[in-house]
Amino acid sequence: MNPLLDPIFLYKTLKSYFSDPDRLRRMTNQELKKYQDKSLRKLVKYAYTVPVYKDKYSKANIKPDEIKGIDDLKKLPFITKDDLRKYSPDGIVPPSFNKENALGARTGGTTGKPLILFLDSYSLIKSMMGLIRTMKEYGIDWRKTKMSLLLDLSESSFESSYFMSGVSSFIKPFFSQKNIQVFNQLETPTELIKKVEDFQPELLAGYPSMINIFAILKDRGYGKKLNPRLIMTAGQFLESNGRRFLEETFETKIYDSYISTETGPIAFECKNGHYHVHSDLIYPEFLKNEEDITPGEPGEFVITKLHGFGTPLIRYTGLGDIVTELDNGCNCGITGSQIKSIHGRKYNSILLPDGRMVTRSFMEKIFSEIFLKSKVNKQNRSQIIQHRLDKIEIKIEFDKKLRNVGCPPEELFDIMTEKMQEKFGPDIEIFFTEVDKFDDMALYLVSKVDRSKFIEKSYVI
Ligand SMILES: [Zn+2]
Repeated sequence: MNPLLDPIFLYKTLKSYFSDPDRLRRMTNQELKKYQDKSLRKLVKYAYTVPVYKDKYSKANIKPDEIKGIDDLKKLPFITKDDLRKYSPDGIVPPSFNKENALGARTGGTTGKPLILFLDSYSLIKSMMGLIRTMKEYGIDWRKTKMSLLLDLSESSFESSYFMSGVSSFIKPFFSQKNIQVFNQLETPTELIKKVEDFQPELLAGYPSMINIFAILKDRGYGKKLNPRLIMTAGQFLESNGRRFLEETFETKIYDSYISTETGPIAFECKNGHYHVHSDLIYPEFLKNEEDITPGEPGEFVITKLHGFGTPLIRYTGLGDIVTELDNGCNCGITGSQIKSIHGRKYNSILLPDGRMVTRSFMEKIFSEIFLKSKVNKQNRSQIIQHRLDKIEIKIEFDKKLRNVGCPPEELFDIMTEKMQEKFGPDIEIFFTEVDKFDDMALYLVSKVDRSKFIEKSYVI
């Protein structure tokens, strides 16, 4: 059944459409806190009907009434991906929950079987409002602005679970608007860029890796008339040099959003380039070894999803991202939490013997030396192999034609090794290997060390 035929759902949807997008501009911090408190109380009460939470909270001897608001959040234990995996599927929703009619958001990760979390239609509506809010910030009207969306429409993707399944049929009209062009990014890139160029979108949106393919093609003479007013990226780590390349090639600004399959939209960049958390949808914590850290310092990002029913997420550690909270507040007028930078996933970090975790953002700075010293984008791909805590191999694949332009590879390897050695210490063995071609499925990081025993002391960003 189309949920919009249900009057209560329709009412909630309309209410959400008129009140959600502007909430963070309308509310003061105090009002927002009240709103979060109320959402949390409702959420905890609901979580008590979900076996995985009920067991955890009973064991910790916490009653729902004790949680009066965000200030009490820390009384609750964390929930990990493994906790949810253990109780999945029946124990991660209330017994009365209709799983047939719900959406499954599949979360990956590098180890273990995928975990499927349940989302109800209301979660979808809230996620859509988050996207509409983001577009509004950039002066985009989702009903009028011409936009091309390059999506991953494979079965297990975020977009498929959110927008393309039967349950979300009520969202389909959004995608059939004349001003919106939706593509599967798995199409041949040269054909894809032609189709997008013909459509002449004002907004181009997609994963950073896909926009990057477009930028490389543009650099080589394709898509000459493809000049969107702005580009939105989401769903992947966007490092600063990659961003600069995209902005220079398209001669426009990139706005990145922080989104996860489990939670939907988390944060979006404002015009000042700071990430603002959708603080009415998500409550974030920035932690190190389960303790709060000072803003400005990198920490683990733990979230509570304040909206929707299905599988609740309260103090969920499963995102595994290292993030730095903004320390000196943005003045753009959006209330709620702010993020200075996102450094990548924990499972993509190098571990050092002294307890330091080297994030992806640091490694991207190292790789940017290739571009800085050669003035061409000649690195096709890279991969890190951590053989031991003190032995790290970096594999690089160069573009065949550009390999010898500018600084020669051997010299680049020396420069990068020296920079890493300086940071990691002299006792760490670091070496580079050149690869002819990577397998398409090659992971960014292959770790041969026992990560479960690692105690993290700090992050190298
Ligand atoms: Zn701002």
